[in-house]
Amino acid sequence: MFIKPIQLPYHIRQYEALTHRLKADSTCDYVLSQYKRLMAGYRGEQSLDFALSYLSDKDFRIFHNLRLYDHVHYFQIDFLVLCDRYALILEVKNILGKLTFDTEMRQLIRELDDDIDVFDDPITQAEYLTGSLHQWLDERGLSLPIINRVVVASAAQIQVTNLKSDRIKKIVRRANLKAELFTIDKQFSKAHLSTDVLNKVSAALLEAHQSLIIKPFRSLIKPEAIIKGVRCPDCGAMPMRKVKQHWHCAGCDHLSKTAHLLALLDYRLIHGPAITNKQCRDFLMMTSETTVKKLLRSVASHFEGEKKARIYYLPADFCANFEKDR
Ligand SMILES: [Zn+2]
Repeated sequence: MFIKPIQLPYHIRQYEALTHRLKADSTCDYVLSQYKRLMAGYRGEQSLDFALSYLSDKDFRIFHNLRLYDHVHYFQIDFLVLCDRYALILEVKNILGKLTFDTEMRQLIRELDDDIDVFDDPITQAEYLTGSLHQWLDERGLSLPIINRVVVASAAQIQVTNLKSDRIKKIVRRANLKAELFTIDKQFSKAHLSTDVLNKVSAALLEAHQSLIIKPFRSLIKPEAIIKGVRCPDCGAMPMRKVKQHWHCAGCDHLSKTAHLLALLDYRLIHGPAITNKQCRDFLMMTSETTVKKLLRSVASHFEGEKKARIYYLPADFCANFEKDR
């Protein structure tokens, strides 16, 4: 069963919000290319759902996009499949073109059209994650065989520099993943964890997960590059105008009662959860302090301070709730 289901990671949602709201310039192009690259990776991960669905709910605990801390850095696992006998790490690559796994130089070379790109070797990455997870479990008094595979989710042509290298056995095409999961499962018969401990470690892993959160204004983006206003949920045009109880889009004539929530969601993704009445009025392009106060009180998880200095906090699940409606 999925303990941490496949969901669009928070930092990709942040990039998505930025692509909607950045004024067109070179920064916008960079953010858009980052967003596209991250989304391609996510689509690749999503496509593993079919193979993973064959693992029995009773025996397996599956985590998508688990990000844990090793006291120095965070390490991020695309998929962790856990049972009482072993743990399996899946490092997913969804890269188009001709892929060459260079097992000697430990790099991945991609040829697409006339371009050559060199990436970090995903097999080395998966081995590093295995070491980090071993350490994480060891610190909690747990020991379990951990294996890893690199799953190529795209239809890329794959070649390797050394067919005799053992390392290439770690590369699995998505279409072969279901069979590979069964092959791996047959290799482990001894249980290392009781069901009780398995459940406890699953809960501890979920608890320890820390989403990656990007700070867009720390480096390349200036706050004035962000387009303000309520965004049309239908066509994306900004700003929508408030007409009585509705928001109206001049671009496509769409009427919405809740479009301001989409804008607040953008605000949280771009600026973070803290917002004052003035910042909210400014971002939503609303004038009434009373209306905005009512709105913020209805969506905030809590607030601090009094009067004009009051800071409201938009809750984390504010995004999750909205996503269900999307
Ligand atoms: Zn519209």
